[in-house]
Amino acid sequence: MLRRLFAFRRNLSLQLLASYLLFVGFVALGAALFRQTASQRLEADVRAADLALARAIAQETNSAMESALQAVRQLATYPAVQDSDSEGMYQAFSTLMSVRSDVNLVYRLDERGIMRFHYPVGPESTVGVDFSFRDYFQAAQLTRNPVASKGRISPTTMQPVATAVMPLWRGTEFDGVVATNMKLQSLSHALSAIVRDSAPDETYDIAIVDADGQIVANPDPTRLLLNLGQSQAAVVDAVLQGRSGAVIGRDESGGEMLYSYVPIVSVGWGVVVSRPTAVAFASVNAFQRGALVAIVVFLAGGLFFWLALARLVISPLERLTQFSQQVGREQVFGEGQRQRISDLERRRDQIGHLARSLSGMHASIEARLAELGTLLQTSGAVVSTLDASRILDRILEQVERLMGVEMCAIFALDEEQGRFRVQASRNMSAWYRQHAIIDPSDPGSVTMRAIRSGEPIQIDDTETNPSYVHHRARARTAGFRSVLAVPLSAPHASPAALLVFRPEPHAFNEREIALLSNFANHAAMAIENATLFARSDMRLQEQTRRLESLIQSMQDGLILEDLEGRVLYANRRIEELSGRPLADITGASMSELMSRILDRAEERQEAQAAVEQALRHDGDRRARFALHLNGNVRQIRLRVFDVTDSQGERLGSGRILQDITQRYEVDRMKSSLISTVSHELRTPLAAIKGYATTLLAEDVNWDAQSEREFLAIISQETDHLSELVDDLLDMSRIEAGDLRVSRQSCELGELVQRATQRARERVHEQPDERLVVSLPEALPSLFVDPARIETVLRNLIENAIKYSPATKPVRVTAELEGRDVVVRVADEGPGIPTEHGQRVFESFYRVDRGLARSQPGAGLGLAISQGFVKAHGGDIWLEAQEVGTCVAFSLPLGGDAGHGEGRPAGLVTAEGVSGSGPGHD
Ligand code: ADP
Repeated sequence: MLRRLFAFRRNLSLQLLASYLLFVGFVALGAALFRQTASQRLEADVRAADLALARAIAQETNSAMESALQAVRQLATYPAVQDSDSEGMYQAFSTLMSVRSDVNLVYRLDERGIMRFHYPVGPESTVGVDFSFRDYFQAAQLTRNPVASKGRISPTTMQPVATAVMPLWRGTEFDGVVATNMKLQSLSHALSAIVRDSAPDETYDIAIVDADGQIVANPDPTRLLLNLGQSQAAVVDAVLQGRSGAVIGRDESGGEMLYSYVPIVSVGWGVVVSRPTAVAFASVNAFQRGALVAIVVFLAGGLFFWLALARLVISPLERLTQFSQQVGREQVFGEGQRQRISDLERRRDQIGHLARSLSGMHASIEARLAELGTLLQTSGAVVSTLDASRILDRILEQVERLMGVEMCAIFALDEEQGRFRVQASRNMSAWYRQHAIIDPSDPGSVTMRAIRSGEPIQIDDTETNPSYVHHRARARTAGFRSVLAVPLSAPHASPAALLVFRPEPHAFNEREIALLSNFANHAAMAIENATLFARSDMRLQEQTRRLESLIQSMQDGLILEDLEGRVLYANRRIEELSGRPLADITGASMSELMSRILDRAEERQEAQAAVEQALRHDGDRRARFALHLNGNVRQIRLRVFDVTDSQGERLGSGRILQDITQRYEVDRMKSSLISTVSHELRTPLAAIKGYATTLLAEDVNWDAQSEREFLAIISQETDHLSELVDDLLDMSRIEAGDLRVSRQSCELGELVQRATQRARERVHEQPDERLVVSLPEALPSLFVDPARIETVLRNLIENAIKYSPATKPVRVTAELEGRDVVVRVADEGPGIPTEHGQRVFESFYRVDRGLARSQPGAGLGLAISQGFVKAHGGDIWLEAQEVGTCVAFSLPLGGDAGHGEGRPAGLVTAEGVSGSGPGHD
């Protein structure tokens, strides 16, 4: 219900229809009421008129009858009449007849009712005929006043008559009557005349009925004496009872009639005026019909008006409303719809005006939407790519389309040349593109003016604008008459402006300027983005490059794996550790790569187990194993870690393989230093303590020789101690790089001799028997620190003696090789296993097997020797030979402190031996 009401309130056409119906309803009701009252009034008038007519006739008849009665009353006074004197009656009766044309017979009946005389006498006489049966004769005997008879056919005149009768009395004796027969026809003529006079156009039927209901007067003479009481009993009864009125009844033929009746009092008759109701009420009916027609016409007119209103106003309004609702909704109008709207637009009235303005509005909204759409697209393009030149081309394309210009361009500063040039353009001639170079100091340039002012600048006609006079020729050649320039504000990019050109003079309006400014903003954004991106990209690339080279040059190996266990990244060190090229590593399976690395492990199984342990998340995620790399054993520590994003979400894991050989060695050295030094100290100290305690024992008296022997041993052990301390000091000096050599010229032979001597003292052997020294005769003098070189020789000879069986010889040889003197100390002992070959030169490193185990030593001899030799610019190495050991060292002649010539410089490092010497390949 409520919905319907809303629908109704939304529909103007329904509302109009409703108010129209309400209005028409009221009007129709009023019309009906009016019609009703008016009809009643008219009908009453008609009835009143008829009644008046009847009344008039009644009056007329009454007076006629009264005069007739008066006449007989008068006659009765005549003596001739009273006396029934025929002569006298003749006179009197003829006189009466001559003045009253309505009377056709005057007569005298005697007391018995016998006709005594009548006038006129002929044609047939009823004299002597008994008329006592007549009703009026009966009635006359009872009154002294005149009476009127009923109507009847007079036997005398053979005409329908009514009689006015005056009883004659002689004293109290009835003496007959004098009577006049009145021609009912003449009464009827009178009626006809009345009808004719009063209502000439009406078809009245007027009847006068007597007390018996017989028609005694009627315009139609043939109806005289017909009994009306039979057909219209009600009317006749009423009128004969003395009432007057008007009723509607039916006549003999069944036609509806209006009967109006009035009694004629004097004679007890009545007048009945009748006419068909169709005639009587013709005007009423006509009025009713008229009113009906008026209502119908009114309704039809209203309907027509409503239809016209609906067709001409409401439905166009609806159409326009629909149209306006679709405006801006991206709905495509149907062909029919378009046609209907353009039909409306052709109308010259207000609806046409409305349609035209809506259409205009639609067009301008569409244009605005298109602009907006284009600007949005351009915004989208600006953010979707960083290719500034592509975006600028797109923007210029849109500028051309939306602004309807033929030529447009972006001018930007060419930083190198310090001039403005075309950066992007559309429909610009190659000539203009080449020649459009703007000097930033040019005051007349539109581009420069726009850039300097930061505002749009336009020249509406290049031919007339005075500020453009210097560029006029160029504009002519380029083919434009008007130009608009809008600056681009991109703080990080070079200054630039967007220009549009038109071939005709044109004043750019605010909308065009605003639109171009919008495009300029987009272009500025694109350029700004591209500039910023280029900068940040460069920075990023630089950073990435740095980071990459940092990671790549890390001493440690780094592997990153994804959640599927694939290698995402590995650095060069991993290439070395695994022996696979980097290209193969990336994307390979991590476990496979690890297994490749572990293939080089010293203890494959143990290393594998350690790695597996580290990969478990519950452990400390570290493992250590040794790998054989390039002939060296490297200590590797594996560390496993998780790679997570900023939210802590795990992305994969990483592994760092750290070469901890050096640290490992330092540790090892530290522990060897402590154990060796403590062991090497304890032995002499124990001896010293033992002999000193022995000597101090008070309960024993040693002989002088024993005492001397003990003291000699104490002294010897003290020497050992001090030598050890010297060695340690030397070693620390070497390692601190603080070793000083004081060179002097000396002979190798002497040095060998002294060294042999010292060695002998130390090893308590007679080396002379084993020692075979063979030095070339013409060996030049050396320019070295004799004490140091002697220590080197002593260490080598001592080792050879110590570590080879006493039966085997020890050979000391020297020779000149180039500008070096090379000294070799060789024995025939067990030799030094290859894997220890590089390491025996490290401090505190000892080969822990065979003879070496039983021999005392701190593992410093070779290390110190190497330090001393190197301090002289020479080199020391192991030389391969079939049996035993051969340690060789070189010393440059001429005191050159550099490295020995012809010797690979990388063989010996400050930290120790990292490569093999000649023969140890
Ligand atoms: P030390 O002799 O005090 O132990 P060195 O530095 O002189 O220390 O020697 C280091 C190790 O090299 C020795 O422990 C020994 O095992 C080994 N070595 C040195 N010279 C020889 C040799 N001639 N024959 C066999 N092994 C040797």
